[in-house]
Amino acid sequence: MGVPRTARWPDLALDVAALRAAGHRPAPFQDVVLKVHQRCNLACDYCYVYTMADRSWRDRPPVMERATWLKAADRMAEHAAAHGSSTIRLVLHGGEPLLAGLDRLTALVGDFRARFTGDCRLDIQVQTNAVLLDTALLDLFRRQGVRVGVSLDGTAGDNDRRRRHADGRGSHAAVDRALRLLGSPAYREVFAGLLCTVDPSTDPLATYGALLAYGPPQVDLLIPHANWSTPPERDPAGSGTPHADWLIAVFDRWYDAPRQETGIRLFEDVIALVLGGSSRSEQVGLSPVAAVVVESDGSIELVDSLKSSYPGACFTGLTVFDDPFDAALDHPGVVARQIGVEALSPACRACPMHTVCGGGHYAHRYRAGAGYLNPSVYCADLGRLIRHVSSRVATDLRRLQA
Ligand code: SF4
Repeated sequence: MGVPRTARWPDLALDVAALRAAGHRPAPFQDVVLKVHQRCNLACDYCYVYTMADRSWRDRPPVMERATWLKAADRMAEHAAAHGSSTIRLVLHGGEPLLAGLDRLTALVGDFRARFTGDCRLDIQVQTNAVLLDTALLDLFRRQGVRVGVSLDGTAGDNDRRRRHADGRGSHAAVDRALRLLGSPAYREVFAGLLCTVDPSTDPLATYGALLAYGPPQVDLLIPHANWSTPPERDPAGSGTPHADWLIAVFDRWYDAPRQETGIRLFEDVIALVLGGSSRSEQVGLSPVAAVVVESDGSIELVDSLKSSYPGACFTGLTVFDDPFDAALDHPGVVARQIGVEALSPACRACPMHTVCGGGHYAHRYRAGAGYLNPSVYCADLGRLIRHVSSRVATDLRRLQA
């Protein structure tokens, strides 16, 4: 089963055959996100999987079966071989992936390692809330070279306001215990970094300091998922660009530090783009998005941040049992995220910042009835952040030339 060659995507009727004939070549998938467990042991109030438009998790098996991950491993290896990829990354995700348990994760990681013994290197990362992260799991991850990314929203008070158990208990104490383990000499080699969702109601420097306390090699600051139909929370009496204000406070602290305290991907991407380079994240820039999701039932889906848009936004009709990942490369929802400026709205194409901004995160452009062919709902914030970063970089460049 394949995707119809002219399948419709909400913003564009993409004629994939015509694009291919005109020379557009798909970027092979570099990241495969495996939904090893559909449920979560937390109930964060902003979670796009459980609190926004799409509720498809209810209809899927809670945990992935071995037959499904074995097929996914075959499809990954097939895809990497077909495209001559030297590396491909498996991201263990959920829900909360650690709910799958030590035995199942041991078998899963072992099966993937056994499938990738040839020329293509398999990188494996787990993205977790860390509540269940213990030495037994960390020993497995260290033994198998699995890197661990942890979600944390800053200080104990701020984190526990939004990242809570279903009964209202905060998660910070458990995550703090896990991060102390992860940052210890025994396990530090598997620490990939922290992921923090930006909340303008918090103190940005206190949040940054709370993240830095664990010595993360990398921090991802995520602008929360929102769109024109489900707009971000904003104080009507505020500046109008609260997310940019928050990010700029952290940027200035990070940029002015006498030595690099950690990597912050959003800032590094904006600096690279301002200087004519490319981005590594989905939040800015026009680089092709080369990620695909395998749900717990084996469905091949689009990147699941799109679940914040409308029910079924990630559906492709493909599964690892019936289809190669190459079939998903022709889905208009993948193509639209690999054709750069051609997928931007007229307003973004006319914007002088579009090569840096890239129209922002694709999910943030959605408007019910109009699809994704709009500027980001965070347009004003992105513009302010990019102007600020550009100005700081330009000042430094002038100083060098003086
Ligand atoms: S989202 Fe706004 S700042 Fe970004 S490219 Fe579009 S118009 Fe420009």
